[in-house]
Amino acid sequence: MNERYFVDERVGMVAIRDRFHPEYDKERSGLNSQMPDVFISWAGTQVSVICKECGHTKYKEWRVDPAVVKIAENMCAELNGKDPK
Ligand SMILES: [Zn+2]
Repeated sequence: MNERYFVDERVGMVAIRDRFHPEYDKERSGLNSQMPDVFISWAGTQVSVICKECGHTKYKEWRVDPAVVKIAENMCAELNGKDPK
């Protein structure tokens, strides 16, 4: 089903994009807040991934809070004229 707005969730970012935007590009592989078809976006936070053996920081990664994803999904449903879940 191709509704106007859809949630685009990536590593470290979630956005609502507009398929009807004149500059919407479904082939675009990246996602950032400056893209013209991004209606609204939320950046994740950087989280340290800790080594279980010795407790050192192995690496850091960007994560989006699941609560934020839920907000995005509900807002997207409303934008498409549906009741949020
Ligand atoms: Zn370690």
